[in-house]
Amino acid sequence: MRTTVASLASDTNGENEDWYSASAHLLVVLDGATARTGTGCRHGISWYAAHLGAALSEGAQDSTLDLPQILARGIKRVADLHPSCDLTHEGTPSAAVAIVRRTGTWMEYLVLGDVSIVLDGTDGVVAISDDRVSQTATAERRAADALPIGSSEKTAAMVRMKRAELAMRNREGGYWIAAADPAAAEHVITGQVRTEEIRRFAVLTDGAARIVDPFGEISWTELLDIAEHDSPEAILRRVRALESDDPAGIRWPRNKRSDDATLLLAVDI
Ligand SMILES: [Zn+2]
Repeated sequence: MRTTVASLASDTNGENEDWYSASAHLLVVLDGATARTGTGCRHGISWYAAHLGAALSEGAQDSTLDLPQILARGIKRVADLHPSCDLTHEGTPSAAVAIVRRTGTWMEYLVLGDVSIVLDGTDGVVAISDDRVSQTATAERRAADALPIGSSEKTAAMVRMKRAELAMRNREGGYWIAAADPAAAEHVITGQVRTEEIRRFAVLTDGAARIVDPFGEISWTELLDIAEHDSPEAILRRVRALESDDPAGIRWPRNKRSDDATLLLAVDI
């Protein structure tokens, strides 16, 4: 498996809250959720994503555990690292997660939250995404989308949206994400495919995936082609160029002008 990757912080917020690791048999990609309210944690989102990513990368070396078990253990392990923080806080740090692990002739995958895996194989191009979060707080999301980025009305509307979203976080009928409760691992999207059936695949956070969905500028196949024949960074540069052409988010309504973006491509599986 040959991997190439690009990861860019957003233009607006200094620290990249995405996290990834790539090795011969394992890819882990996390997207730390932007805090718009208090978190009850003095460590922050990047700290959470980095420690969860490291725990998952290490945990996945145990092939007797399946990916949901590895995620549950990783969440527990990170929670145990900061017992003096208020882990019951509704805004406790969280991250969307994707894991791809190759074990012998199989490739297993797990998705939880807004990170996508795009497989290109004998069944064509298939995107595995978890859209449960975008189905929550829909009225608040619509209201926020209607306002121009940079306005104080938009900022206030996004806090209302975040509060409505958090009220649905990690509960039945809402959406699930890695935070402080290992039970989230019971709600992941998982699957496995035969390695020989996959020619290439990508794992990407929503800051990168937006060029396909919702921007609709290119297809998943075109994204894979550009990433393979040019580079993953070429995709991220194109995302940034589109965003700067629409700084107020009128053509493509979104929460912020640009978002942390990560794209990992694996070929010759
Ligand atoms: Zn903490």
